[in-house]
Amino acid sequence: MKKILKYLNPLAQLGKKRYSLAFPLTFSLVVCIISEIYANQIVHNPGIVGRYIILVNVASLIYFSFRDGVRAGIIASIIPILYYVYIIYSRDYTGTRLTSGIVATVSLGALYLIIAGIIGWLKQTIDNLIEKEQVARIHAQDAKTRLEAIMEQLPVGVILTDKEGSLDMSNKQADLIGGMKIPGFTLGKPETYPKNNKFYAHENNKPLGNGDWPLVQSFKTGKPVEKYISLERPDGKELYLQVKSSIIRNKKKEVLAGATIITDITQQKEIEDRKDDFINMASHELKTPLTSTKLFIKSFEKHLKNNGDEKGVQLLGKIDKQMNKLTHLVKELLDVTNINRGQLKLTKEQFPISEVIKETIEDLGPTTKQQFQIKNVTNHIVNADKEKIMQVLANFITNAIKYSRSEDIIIKSKKENNSVVVGVQDFGIGIPKNQQKKIFGRFYQAHKTAENTYPGIGLGLFIASEIINLHKGKIWVESELDKGSTFYFSLPAKS
Ligand code: ADP
Repeated sequence: MKKILKYLNPLAQLGKKRYSLAFPLTFSLVVCIISEIYANQIVHNPGIVGRYIILVNVASLIYFSFRDGVRAGIIASIIPILYYVYIIYSRDYTGTRLTSGIVATVSLGALYLIIAGIIGWLKQTIDNLIEKEQVARIHAQDAKTRLEAIMEQLPVGVILTDKEGSLDMSNKQADLIGGMKIPGFTLGKPETYPKNNKFYAHENNKPLGNGDWPLVQSFKTGKPVEKYISLERPDGKELYLQVKSSIIRNKKKEVLAGATIITDITQQKEIEDRKDDFINMASHELKTPLTSTKLFIKSFEKHLKNNGDEKGVQLLGKIDKQMNKLTHLVKELLDVTNINRGQLKLTKEQFPISEVIKETIEDLGPTTKQQFQIKNVTNHIVNADKEKIMQVLANFITNAIKYSRSEDIIIKSKKENNSVVVGVQDFGIGIPKNQQKKIFGRFYQAHKTAENTYPGIGLGLFIASEIINLHKGKIWVESELDKGSTFYFSLPAKS
């Protein structure tokens, strides 16, 4: 019964675009049969019967054109009309009765056709609109289902928000990392954050505030943000996470959504920590015999000098140089493990930058034949760890010596806005553009090829950049291949 009602209901057919001609044809046939049965009344009482006929016709016309479109409306109205014409023509009508009957019926027929056309056209337009909307909805649903399926399979946690920063979707992996189903939230509205949440998040041993999460910063700056975060969950489990967030825009650059990808790197971190522990322990173990050996070299040198053994003193000098390199290497390794553990500490004092330049040059001068040219050295005061700044400058200068030919090395400094900038320029082999940022990374060496074998392990600039970053300064390089490089660092100047 329900099915029949649904079949007959014109509204239920909206948007289906399944237009039936059989139904209006059958209906017209039934009307013709009834007209035939009542033909006598039609002929003798056209006024009374005509009214009902017009009513039935108008109703059927509206019904069928609305249910099955233009063609159905026309069929449902024109066939009975034609049949009336036939009845009027074939029966007792003559003269003016016949002509006026036919004229009235035909003009009614024409009116019906117009009505059928308009209603049917409206119906088909509505159908098209509904169909388009349905197709768009199915596509959107399909895309969402596909996206959800892909997200579930990903080996990383994914959290998607809408453009307002409200949670839209998260995957199973994100729930596993969080130890619970990711609850709904809206960024920037702490009242929507889960209550009693006992998550403790830290970045570089500092607690992470609501505004420090990468996605919040990404929404604020419009740029991708990546952070390494340690997370203590309510169940006591500690995780180390790489969290990358960015906002997603359409072609018109309008913000569509926010996306965060979380990778659980706890295991890698544990391995790294163990490796760092080993390097730290090995470097400490190496430090003691190295210091004693240096002392032995000193007293042995005295002994050889007293005995007038020039050759022995010369050889011992070479041993001492190698020992210095080894000491430097051990120090770099210790520095790196301290940086990785967040244990690189500064002991700040106030001093003029010229002092650091002068003392570093005094230290390094005797180790090279290259000439140092000092240009525009300022006496601006900085509040910094002097020993560590000397370490940075020494790294710049030793690299300039190592990677340049015999030309001079220029050391310059200046005050720029609120900073003191120090630069070391060489005229050596230079650095390719695409590697200029990478050389500040750990163990990165730009010229490590079979034909270029320079000593070093690619740690000096990494340590230097960490030292400068800890001082809230900047470090950078300007370089051109085969022409030379200028390495700079800047420190906030004391006013
Ligand atoms: P390394 O001990 O290998 O010199 P650094 O961290 O000090 O390590 O430098 C990293 C890399 O940067 C070097 O291996 C070298 O390729 C490049 N580099 C550093 N300084 C210079 C320079 N003055 N000229 C050309 N290349 C340089």
